[in-house]
Amino acid sequence: MSNSNTIRDILEQIHFLQIQLNDLNESLRRAPLVLKAQEVNIQKQLANLNLINETYQKLGADAKRKELEVVANDQALDKRRTQLQEAKSNKEFQALQLQIKADEAARSVLMDEALEVIEKADQYALNVPVAETELKKARELHETTKKKFLEEKPEIEAKIILFKQLLEAEEVKLPRDFSEIYNRLVRSVGGNEALAIVENQKYCGGCNHQIPINSLAQILQKKPITCSSCARLLYLPQDFVFDKG
Ligand SMILES: [Zn+2]
Repeated sequence: MSNSNTIRDILEQIHFLQIQLNDLNESLRRAPLVLKAQEVNIQKQLANLNLINETYQKLGADAKRKELEVVANDQALDKRRTQLQEAKSNKEFQALQLQIKADEAARSVLMDEALEVIEKADQYALNVPVAETELKKARELHETTKKKFLEEKPEIEAKIILFKQLLEAEEVKLPRDFSEIYNRLVRSVGGNEALAIVENQKYCGGCNHQIPINSLAQILQKKPITCSSCARLLYLPQDFVFDKG
């Protein structure tokens, strides 16, 4: 294997490991954020359910109050009907009859109102199981995510340790002129942004900028060449065929 192939292979392997490490670190970083967002959602669903329950209870109390008004009205009616039977004069009898008619009219209105409030409460009751289901779903999602994360975490951490070791083993193989550029890029832009493969014979795999033909020739001559647009250190794919245009 020629030296240029070796450098190419090292850069490709480093790039692969840097991307893996970035993905693994990213999943570790993201998991608590996802869990936190899910907790916020649970609180939101809980507050919503509480509000719906409060409103439902208030409507229930309204309905109860109306029912009591009907009962009170009925008791008043019974009382006046008794008084009517015991009326001592025609005048008193007529006055009580008028009062009873008024009470009966009031009863009809109260009954309508009571039915309306009861129906409203019954309709509103449908919101309770919907909100309960939403809360249950939010809690279940959080539990599943948490369980999955706790299961995966040790595996991810072990992979990170392994990949870091593999990365270090590759990095020490880089010639000095490459490692100087590479190390500077790792510090300034991060490991996974430090390298790019040349795609479709002439484009930077990082930013799609076209690489000049003389730069490609220099890469083949084992020179460390960076993309003039995104500054990534470039390497060629294994099946690269130099096309002089
Ligand atoms: Zn680029």
